[in-house]
Amino acid sequence: MIRIALITLSLSSVSAATLAQGNSSLVQAGMELISAYTLNDAQVASVAKQAVQQMDAKYPVAAANDPYTLRLNRIVARHQKVGNLPINYKVYKTADVNAFATADGSVRVFKGLMDLMTDNEVLAVIGHEIGHVANRDSRDAMKAALKRSAIRNVGASQSGVIGQLSRSQLAGMTDYIVGASFSRKQETEADDYSYAFLKRNGYSVMPLASSFEKLAQQGGSGGPAFLSTHPDSKARAQRIRDRARSEGIAR
Ligand SMILES: [Zn+2]
Repeated sequence: MIRIALITLSLSSVSAATLAQGNSSLVQAGMELISAYTLNDAQVASVAKQAVQQMDAKYPVAAANDPYTLRLNRIVARHQKVGNLPINYKVYKTADVNAFATADGSVRVFKGLMDLMTDNEVLAVIGHEIGHVANRDSRDAMKAALKRSAIRNVGASQSGVIGQLSRSQLAGMTDYIVGASFSRKQETEADDYSYAFLKRNGYSVMPLASSFEKLAQQGGSGGPAFLSTHPDSKARAQRIRDRARSEGIAR
């Protein structure tokens, strides 16, 4: 997760009545309640997918023929799958300098980030975000969010398929997706994933460093949220530059 601006979603204000309604409708549907602790990967991906669908309905998604969509499609043309996981990409047309990927293979890039960065920097950031998915950080964070959420259990049918969650149940998940912060170790590993991804695909790795430097500059120009979540962007950029130099690929 990279984040500068705090993103507020109105979804998070959930009344007790709404929560109760959400629960009872699940029970009425004959759904078995299972603990977040026992959720398998497919179930976590299902919750992530539903949360992203809800976000897609809330954010201004760039149309298929929008210049931002066309640019993003061009940038990621060669990268439609990670392992066996198909990736779907969309642009949110807000000024936030942000991007995220979720356990179901959804990647969302905000207009503000695309305005700030070159094509290869955008790809480097996407590589980092996809790294969180490939490293299972996204899945683990989603599970943790489910455990923390006001609703301790989510509905699942006897077959183990997650049912449609209520709007209120998804609210906590969407907040998590835009606001989650990973550990420093997870961030470093996601940086390494992007580095390897860029190198493997024949790109320069330097845009990974410059993307962090641009983020650091943004923070300096007045993004307190950014500073609190990414105090070490300059150090991360330097680490990439040092590694590229030691490998003789600092170009
Ligand atoms: Zn990250």
